[in-house]
Amino acid sequence: MKFTDLNPKREIGAHSLHIEIGAFRILVDGGMSPKDVGLACLPDYTRIENDSVDLILLTHCHLDHIGSLPCVHRLQPSARLLMTRASAEILPVMLQNSHTVMLRQRDELDVKEYPLFTRQEVDAVSDDTFIMSFGHTREFIKGGDRLKITFYPAGHVMGAASILLEHQGVRYFFTGDILFRDQNTLHGAQIPQMQVDVLVTETTRGLADLPAGFSYEDEILRLLESVAQTLNGGGSCLLPVFALGRLQEMVTLIYTARRHGILPRRFPIYCSGLGLAIVDVFEKIYRNRRYYGIDYRAENPIVAPGTKQGAVHPMAPRDKCLFRKHFLRDLGVRPLIGRRLKPGLDIRVPSLFVMSSGMLAEHTPSYQIASSLLPFEHNLIAFTGYCDADTPGGKLLTMQPGETFSFDVLKFETPIRAAIRRYDFTGHADREDLVHLAQCLRPKTIVLSHGEQDSRLWFMKEFATRMPMTKIVNPEPQMTYDI
Ligand SMILES: [Zn+2]
Ligand SMILES: [Zn+2]
Repeated sequence: MKFTDLNPKREIGAHSLHIEIGAFRILVDGGMSPKDVGLACLPDYTRIENDSVDLILLTHCHLDHIGSLPCVHRLQPSARLLMTRASAEILPVMLQNSHTVMLRQRDELDVKEYPLFTRQEVDAVSDDTFIMSFGHTREFIKGGDRLKITFYPAGHVMGAASILLEHQGVRYFFTGDILFRDQNTLHGAQIPQMQVDVLVTETTRGLADLPAGFSYEDEILRLLESVAQTLNGGGSCLLPVFALGRLQEMVTLIYTARRHGILPRRFPIYCSGLGLAIVDVFEKIYRNRRYYGIDYRAENPIVAPGTKQGAVHPMAPRDKCLFRKHFLRDLGVRPLIGRRLKPGLDIRVPSLFVMSSGMLAEHTPSYQIASSLLPFEHNLIAFTGYCDADTPGGKLLTMQPGETFSFDVLKFETPIRAAIRRYDFTGHADREDLVHLAQCLRPKTIVLSHGEQDSRLWFMKEFATRMPMTKIVNPEPQMTYDI
């Protein structure tokens, strides 16, 4: 296999891998860096000859994996786009929203090259999708060459897949973004026990060392207690969330917590942003869950040692791994529209805000609300997912109470007085789980991808110690490797 990581920076950024296996030219994902603007947010597609790619394999619908698909599709018009049925539903909503955001940024930030694609090009991507069902192997033929492809549930977000390629008896496995434990709204990864030759693994959490005795269930209770305390004390809470997956997960959690009496009965809940647009898609998928394959179970799955798949916690929803639109209605969730918000002006009625972006990116509802909550000590901002260090959320998390935080876009500065807390509900496998996965798959070669350099170094060291016979490759961006 010839392998090129097209992400120009060795970080999470714009994920896209170019693979050559036999006669086949393949791309895995076509992402966009969430923290760069303009052409700098794209993978380096200039390294690939136009109209040379046969297949584009899509792992899941976060923008760092799909944000530039319409651009690749324009450059590679003959390529087939393979994805799960759920991803095919979510993809156009995410890309159309990204188009809208780029139009706004063109005007506000004067980014002349935006938008990088048109609405029609998003439709063209959707028209060319080829659906892959979990666990169902498809064979592709080019000239006399044959390639088998199988998608497995990766547990990370709705529709997320890990991908197995088989060519002339050699097996290549791509984790994509992967999570082994069950979430409230989604089952964990279902990767069958097997031996592979090459493992291409994500490395997001190489630096995250979970404290001894950490449990996801305790973390839920910790979050809910803080939210209840804040609301009962007359303050408001902001949960900045990723639109895809985390918003639906948090709404399910709040719905269940209210039913259990863990959260007070009456307080307004506001949701806003892209997450609400995805709710309808989720409703459709959960109504037809068998058709979308979300209950797929591998026969002999790899279970990471720390996970309790199928375990029932008192706080688990009655119907495990289910999200329904009526949760929003029953909670009386309102959109943010119509509220008079001003930086530095406190929210008078204690309220709960669950809104994107998860990293408090500028020009988003969560950024706006944070500017109202931050100056007052009775409020709480609770992060529940990954925050890049260069985003406003990432910066806020490194600062101390009393320091001055600047909302540059709003031209507003304030001392940090609200409580800032972080809760670990990551959608990515713990680093020990990824090492366990590698030990189960017994690859001859491991290729590191999708992680910051320091994080990759942890994996290099651990794999070298615990799997000394395995070759480890930490590829330079844009360099081609024979693997
Ligand atoms: Zn992801
Ligand atoms: Zn990712």
